[in-house]
Amino acid sequence: METIYLDNNATTKVAPEVLEAMLPFFKEEYGNPSSMHHKGGDVAAALRRARLSLASLLGCEPHEIVYTSCGTESDNTALWSALRTQPDKRHLVTSKVEHSAIINNAAFLARQGYKVTEIGVDRRGLLDFDELKAALTPDTALVSLLWANNETGVLFPIVETAALCREKGIVFHTDAVQAVGKIPINLKETCIDMLSLSGHKLHAPKGIGALYVRHGLKFAPFMIGGHQENGRRGGTENVPYIVGVGAAAELSEKNLPEENGRVKAMRDRLEEGLLKIPSTIVNGDRELRLPNTSNVSFEYVEGESILFHLSHAGICASSGSACTSGSLEPSHVLRAMGVPFTAAHGSIRLSLSTANTDAEIDKALEIFPAVISKLRDLSPFWKDGAPALDNSLLTCDTNSCQICN
Ligand SMILES: *Cc1c(COP(=O)(O)O)cnc(C)c1O
Repeated sequence: METIYLDNNATTKVAPEVLEAMLPFFKEEYGNPSSMHHKGGDVAAALRRARLSLASLLGCEPHEIVYTSCGTESDNTALWSALRTQPDKRHLVTSKVEHSAIINNAAFLARQGYKVTEIGVDRRGLLDFDELKAALTPDTALVSLLWANNETGVLFPIVETAALCREKGIVFHTDAVQAVGKIPINLKETCIDMLSLSGHKLHAPKGIGALYVRHGLKFAPFMIGGHQENGRRGGTENVPYIVGVGAAAELSEKNLPEENGRVKAMRDRLEEGLLKIPSTIVNGDRELRLPNTSNVSFEYVEGESILFHLSHAGICASSGSACTSGSLEPSHVLRAMGVPFTAAHGSIRLSLSTANTDAEIDKALEIFPAVISKLRDLSPFWKDGAPALDNSLLTCDTNSCQICN
């Protein structure tokens, strides 16, 4: 059975060019870039080239990049640094639809006594900009917002928000892990202070990330140690992986038009085909969105059952909800958007990349209708090709579902 991989927002396949670029640094190029001898010097030169490639993708200076171990570390570093460098400010603003790397951090900081404001979104997943403006106070140390939502692909007005924060003297960070490589980014033309990215979301390996830190921004390191990364992140550099991210950045820059052309066309064709299935909804604004992501709800069926059957047919996707046995807890993103219970529980995320083909989309469009109709035949909410609403059944079996309660 052939695999049709439609889960690129979870992770991407390492591109062959990226692996090729990395291999010498597992073999003959083993020097420590800090060493004074030629084995070190060669590796230091490779690091400089890789940093230039990433800086070119982001539109920033090479010295504004700090390599980290992952997107999560970049997010942690940004929050930590902004609060550490402004100890007199105790307020942090973020949104209700962030990645767990920010959400759980903010919750931790709230327990430590910081004031945290989480800005809401509308039914289409768009940020409530008025609520954001009203939330900013002289005590606000940092605003941190996702650039592109990992579940829906919806884009936030990052450039505008960064400009507003600059005006008010507030540090602005964006988790751009899903945005980098999928939409054009030119940091020089923005007021963004810090930006997180992760290698494995752009065809480099897992376990490498980077944080852009604007030149001149006060910075406190999260990892204290050696002088690496200009004293901003201790630890001997993960040379092969940094080189891999450099190659991935070059590839991303080259593939950006394809991402917004061919990939977007495949995503749209897939989505249009799925919308022909009755009681199907696309979650999130369909314009202000990444070109590769589609979050689709098949009402009256369970996301997990869909994924299970899709996987049997070779399709890898992921669920918008995170149901664990006994507690049906829909995704915090769909919940914040106010997606109704019947839709939120049947939502799945499809995320494409340049590695996908039109033939795969054709195949997926054959598999989906069969899977959904099979599951609906078993659903108590569905009879003879239409919803059969018995409202007494339309609640979760636990008190934890915030849509129902
Ligand atoms: C994947 C992801 C992260 C975490 O990146 P890791 O490298 O896996 O730690 C953070 N934010 C967003 C939006 C992501 O999609």
